[in-house]
Amino acid sequence: MSQSAFKTPSKIICVGRNYAEHAKELGNEVPESPVLFIKPPSSLVGLTQGISWNKNLGECHFECELSIQIGQTLKNASKDQAKAAIAGVTLGLDLTLRDLQNQLKNKGQPWERAKAFDGACMLGEWLAPDMLSDLNNTTFSLMLNDQVRQQGNTADMLFGVVELLVDISQVFTLQEGDVVMTGTPAGVAALSSGDSLNMTLDTVLGEVSWQTTVL
Ligand code: ZN
Repeated sequence: MSQSAFKTPSKIICVGRNYAEHAKELGNEVPESPVLFIKPPSSLVGLTQGISWNKNLGECHFECELSIQIGQTLKNASKDQAKAAIAGVTLGLDLTLRDLQNQLKNKGQPWERAKAFDGACMLGEWLAPDMLSDLNNTTFSLMLNDQVRQQGNTADMLFGVVELLVDISQVFTLQEGDVVMTGTPAGVAALSSGDSLNMTLDTVLGEVSWQTTVL
């Protein structure tokens, strides 16, 4: 398994509601343009450190997402530039305090308290992009305690990876090392202490998996 050096990103840009079935399961409308939010570098935590959150804030949901590492600056990028800037791929967890997010949504407030807290982002090791035979037709899954809970295929994204990078680069300058989390398929649910999570990505060399546990 190839593994590029871990760079601390200047920002982690996340895409909400990028799979129609997931938008539906949370009672959200399918968006006309990508729903974007940011996690700060301080939200990153290693897989071996495990998942933890302030339990006083309610449920924490897993969201398994194909994640992209940016290899060169992108600003108002063309499709070709965006494609060429993909330096790494992996799976990540966009951990979400769902009760708190619903409270914030109801008040019309930003989601950062629910999605940008310390430990809200976990990423697998970066793989070379050519480990995926087709970025637009890649399957991945999340198993919780040995049961498949999420099964995604990037073909089901409302906005594909390159389209997302083009759009995001109109808003934020993407810098080397930045990360884009491309949204989660259906199946999200609450985590409990002691849960084990296994994220699996289908690659040209077979399945690559990453594990973590809930503290
Ligand atoms: Zn997400």
